[in-house]
Amino acid sequence: MEKVIIIRYAEIHLKGKNRGYFERVFANNLEKALKGIRHEIHRTSGRYLVAAFDEERTYEIMGRVSKVFGVHSYSLGLLVASDEDSIFEAVKEVAPQSGTFKVETHRGDKHYPLTSMEISARIGGRLLDANAALKVDVHTPQHTVYIDVREGGKALVFGMFCNGVHGMPVSTAGRGLLLISGGIDSPVAGYMMAKRGMTVELLHFHSYPYTNEAAKEKVVTLAKIISDYTLVTRITTVSVTHIQEEIHKNCAAELNVTLLRRFMFRIAERVAAHVGAGCLVTGESLGQVASQTLEGLTSSNAVVSLPVLRPLIGFDKEDIVALAKKIGTFETSTLPYEDCCTVFLPDFPAIRPKLSFIEEEEKKLDVDALVEEALLTREIIRF
Ligand code: ATP
Ligand code: MG
Repeated sequence: MEKVIIIRYAEIHLKGKNRGYFERVFANNLEKALKGIRHEIHRTSGRYLVAAFDEERTYEIMGRVSKVFGVHSYSLGLLVASDEDSIFEAVKEVAPQSGTFKVETHRGDKHYPLTSMEISARIGGRLLDANAALKVDVHTPQHTVYIDVREGGKALVFGMFCNGVHGMPVSTAGRGLLLISGGIDSPVAGYMMAKRGMTVELLHFHSYPYTNEAAKEKVVTLAKIISDYTLVTRITTVSVTHIQEEIHKNCAAELNVTLLRRFMFRIAERVAAHVGAGCLVTGESLGQVASQTLEGLTSSNAVVSLPVLRPLIGFDKEDIVALAKKIGTFETSTLPYEDCCTVFLPDFPAIRPKLSFIEEEEKKLDVDALVEEALLTREIIRF
């Protein structure tokens, strides 16, 4: 009898001919997630088993598995020989001490001498004989004991299903560059894209010395939290201080934010080329703030040729907050540090800036030189 964690995968089974590829990536992601903890991963038809693991760290392993995209559900269970006595010994370990229960059997091995119904009935009967405090209730039992008879003379026995995060295995859907601020939205946007299988690289802009070291650390903390899901452990940072100063000195105040955002996108496109990303990702949501009007989004799109994905575009703030709480970024995101966007913030930012006006104001700047200067401040932090 061996303790195992049973992992069932989600949408991967839809992938027809590419199935082998998706499964390999998925297994690889599980390995990455469990790095540093002793374990083995075995594949059995349609499932993965984590075995030979450090039992003291069982719940830590389950916590990590709960964040791997592609996991549909997982269970802590026992792997035993599939003869009736062995199954019964495992069922005794998993079964409750009292209350109502039922036994549910799935029979993957179609040559097994008993049907699923017969296995459930026999094991259930033996459990009743062994413990007078138990009662069978097949309709609304307090506890269900699951038996999964596999091929190769093995069976899995477990007492519950934990819900996984679903989604697609990370790194099966291209590479994107997330513009990550210290706010609530962008980490959630990164989570959403990684959930669809994208490898999410990170880029953060700071305005040192207007923004301090703590603000940068906050972003690195956020990056670490989402890396449990995205499995990406580096972040690029770029300073936009000189750009903000030049905009502030030379251009109409109400366009500060709009112009800065266009610079951010231009720089992001260059960084994307550097990390091999085929799109930009932001945490923008339509109408949330002045720069997130259709005109605002259009004016930033206009300076890049890469697609810009905005997975939160149709989300209400409260939906984003709920997700941020679920993935564990909310507390950090709401720590009070300056973000570069709040430096030189005008009293009245333009809500519907006209592209002709923006371009007119931008002519007052040496755009290319400012972008090159910013790229010289590029740093890569690994964590
Ligand atoms: P967030 O909560 O993600 O900061 P927000 O609602 O505060 O979003 P803005 O500050 O206008 O909105 O930023 C919109 C998007 O631009 C962010 O979601 C993020 O993708 C990007 N962004 C903003 N500031 C930065 C920054 N300092 N570094 C990198 N990306 C940024
Ligand atoms: Mg922000």
